[in-house]
Amino acid sequence: MTVEHHEFASDNTAPICPEAWAALQEANTDYAAAYGEDRWTARVYDRIREIFETDCDVYFVFTGTAANALALAQVCQSFRSIICHQNAHIQTDECGAPEFFTGGSKLLPVGGGNGKIDIGQTKALLIRQNDLHSHKPGVISIAQATEFGTVYTPDEIAAVAGLARAYQLFVHMDGARFANAVASLNCSPKTITWEVGVDVLCFGGTKNGTGAGELVIFFNKEVSREFDYRTKQAGQLGSKMRFLAASWIRLLTGDVWLRNAQHANRAARHLARRLQSVPKVEIVFPVEANAVFVRLDDQVARGIQTGGWRFYKFIEPDVYRLMCSWSTTEEQISHLVADAAAIK
Ligand SMILES: *Cc1c(COP(=O)(O)O)cnc(C)c1O
Repeated sequence: MTVEHHEFASDNTAPICPEAWAALQEANTDYAAAYGEDRWTARVYDRIREIFETDCDVYFVFTGTAANALALAQVCQSFRSIICHQNAHIQTDECGAPEFFTGGSKLLPVGGGNGKIDIGQTKALLIRQNDLHSHKPGVISIAQATEFGTVYTPDEIAAVAGLARAYQLFVHMDGARFANAVASLNCSPKTITWEVGVDVLCFGGTKNGTGAGELVIFFNKEVSREFDYRTKQAGQLGSKMRFLAASWIRLLTGDVWLRNAQHANRAARHLARRLQSVPKVEIVFPVEANAVFVRLDDQVARGIQTGGWRFYKFIEPDVYRLMCSWSTTEEQISHLVADAAAIK
């Protein structure tokens, strides 16, 4: 497999991991029932119930955006609103999919340090948003890991969920990088989801190493009623679902999902440590998952990019994101750090 050696743009620019790739080949030897009626899909759903240690309801969709938008639509009536961080993926990067699929809900952004919603600001918003003329809050959505590569602790999630409960709101978790959060906290998945009050989790596989396919997991089974129809209507019911499921089976067997995430997290920590010694490079957020956010002056940023390195500016005017994945290598890290240090 050839891996692009100048790549820190995203964890979804990485190839499919060897286990997920082999699984596709293994699943490709015979006919099987369509639309999720196959044995691979059933095994994924069972394995998810084992990993989360609860009898949850699980569904496949193709993308993280679909997972978030459909999960939110399921728990949020059109006249209700969704509270999220101002930098949340659902707010900045989903082209209005949550608003579209809910059929009229409004996202209510709040601030908070390190990409995590501030409880005080959320409470103040809930107090303000309380009459017939405003969108009635229906959901609090948090990302685990966050867009800024930080991770909510179980206590922080419990605090968000406690506030949600007090106002009778649902809790949605965008877990496009859920594996990285679990690896970072070294916790069992239930301790940051249903045990602390999360109702629905979008669990990402693509950034962890598959080619496509994300899971929507409802811990509250009353809420998931007829969600299968919602996914079908949205064009998200895969006919050859076994090929999404086959890769997932391998991720969830022998803890490949955790090893991939641990590798990516370790690479990010290592990259951050090495970059600390480079003048004119400043680490902006705590490195708790697989992203390193750096403040770079123009000359350094341009210098590295001219050298062929790919990464995005994330926050104007000068904060960039370096994203690691299951496939990030020691050589890539050393090479990037050396190139950055060489710019005078
Ligand atoms: C990548 C990502 C998603 C999903 O994005 P898709 O491109 O639709 O798969 C959702 N939330 C977060 C935080 C992400 O980083």
